[in-house]
Amino acid sequence: MKFIRYEGKRGTDLGVMTRDENGVVSLRDVLPNKAFADMTQMIEEIRGDELTLLQLVPDGYDKYPVEKIEDVRVLAPIEKPVHDVICIGVNYKAHGEETGVIREAKFDQPDPIFFGKRAIRILGGGDEVDFRSDIDPELDYEAELAVIIGKRCKDVAKEDAESVIFGYSVFNDYSSRKLQRQHVQWMRGKSLDTYTAMGPCIVYKSDIAFPPALHICSRLNGEPRQDSNTELLINDIPTLISTISAGLTLEPGDIIATGTPAGVGMGMDPPKYMEHGDTIECEIEGIGTLTNHIK
Ligand code: MG
Repeated sequence: MKFIRYEGKRGTDLGVMTRDENGVVSLRDVLPNKAFADMTQMIEEIRGDELTLLQLVPDGYDKYPVEKIEDVRVLAPIEKPVHDVICIGVNYKAHGEETGVIREAKFDQPDPIFFGKRAIRILGGGDEVDFRSDIDPELDYEAELAVIIGKRCKDVAKEDAESVIFGYSVFNDYSSRKLQRQHVQWMRGKSLDTYTAMGPCIVYKSDIAFPPALHICSRLNGEPRQDSNTELLINDIPTLISTISAGLTLEPGDIIATGTPAGVGMGMDPPKYMEHGDTIECEIEGIGTLTNHIK
């Protein structure tokens, strides 16, 4: 079941895609007694029978009005996250090696590297990145699997991790490499306006075997860059959730970006960063493709 947020004939709406992905059914038609303000509220409130009803929609959509995907504009599933995005650094071995981090003697600890990424607004597919080359010309892409938290939780055991997940999306952790070096900690280098993109949908967790083992890749102007599989995470999703939730409450709609595989621009020799006019695509098997243009 793929949830999307979209601009349709009734304005901004939430919906479930048909199985062939040619159409979308509005949640207002499936659950007429509900009026969700946004995806985060839907994730927080949807339970039990309502969820069961929605799960029938991809194949049983003939009961409802369907808008064609080509007639709507698909938006970021979550435009304004409930908190800063929880990101993981160096979580694929080959990416650690290409960036030099794993060769450094200090990288000898197995714990996840967590950092916060501010996103005043998350871009969706088709939205433009406002590239601030005047602040940092070294703009890089990072295709990542995003985990969307489904319920308020704390001190989650590894074996319970899947139960607190709502679903998954494709994430691009745009990175300003010069700022990352300049400020030592990565917060500013990850957080310029428009430097976060997610979409095109949130896939409900039951559609994907746990833990996810999905092909993940990116293309810059059509040229293959990253090519890996989410089963290669150094710290897997149960470890990430149990570690970060130990003594720290996660809330519905919280986003965990699980790290990026090898093939980023800074890992090339010499580095090849993005430029004004570029098009970057991030794709994950079973979820979809997230495409942005660099203004
Ligand atoms: Mg990243």
